Amino acid sequence: MESLMKLFSLEGETALVTGGTRGIGQAMAIALAEAGADIVLVQRDPHDTRTKAQIETAGRKCTIYQRDLSSNTDVVTLVSDILADGHDITILLNCAGIQHRSPSAQFADEDWSRVLQVNLTSVFTLCRDVGAHMLQRNPDSTGRRGTIINIASLLSFQGGLTVPAYAASKGGVAQLTKALSNEWAGKGINVNAIAPGYIDTDMNDALMKDEVRAKSIMERIPAGRWGKPDDFKGVVIWLAGRGSAYVSGEVITVDGGWMGR
Ligand code: NDP
Repeated sequence: MESLMKLFSLEGETALVTGGTRGIGQAMAIALAEAGADIVLVQRDPHDTRTKAQIETAGRKCTIYQRDLSSNTDVVTLVSDILADGHDITILLNCAGIQHRSPSAQFADEDWSRVLQVNLTSVFTLCRDVGAHMLQRNPDSTGRRGTIINIASLLSFQGGLTVPAYAASKGGVAQLTKALSNEWAGKGINVNAIAPGYIDTDMNDALMKDEVRAKSIMERIPAGRWGKPDDFKGVVIWLAGRGSAYVSGEVITVDGGWMGR
């Protein structure tokens, strides 16, 4: 039993989490804390302490860094600031993301740039800077230096409808995950992505209000329901810990069976 617990315990770890204020990222940040990790949250509004409070209720430390991921100048100083404050990041969870819907023929340049910056460029910048830090860390007895988890999408595989920037960014997240894994898996850093299916969060408000599309999506999900943020707690703990030591470069769909259809 003790050895089983070691596969999933995150005691002594520190996780840097983006997108932790709500939705999937909030559930995953709390799950990492419940498994024993201290959490560093990156968020636009430092006064939103709802996730921090739940992490502290779980008995873990939580520090908030204020950054807007749509500004690359905000992102490039982030990791050095966190490290300078003495946090030793061993888990990186890139969950922040935005959607913008518009027919492609009218899709504005600024919307394209904003979606690509938040969903893909900031993910690269944080992977690069946290990866560089992890490579300097002494490996543990299993050779592990750290773990990176990016949040992809079904639109890493499929094109979607009227969401060209989102599909391009999430396709990029999947490819970036594999590219980094190829360089770093042999150096003790596993890099994986989780691709959520259709999940009941603020991001899907517009989709859920569109009765025709909401019905056709629901009919295609073998599990017979939309996903919930809590559906991501188990998979993130597994990927963050030693239980997934030989898993890297994967994009794991958590979609109620959608991709099997
Ligand atoms: P939500 O819209 O519920 O939450 C988005 C999160 O990203 C919030 O924490 C938000 O912070 C943060 N964020 C957005 N823009 C910025 C920014 N400029 N700077 C800092 N933080 C920012 O999204 P979900 O929980 O639904 O999605 C989480 C991830 O899962 C995303 O990457 C999304 O693309 C992906 N995903 C979601 C699916 C779904 O069906 N819901 C399906 C497939 C993938 P704030 O509170 O400040 O806005």
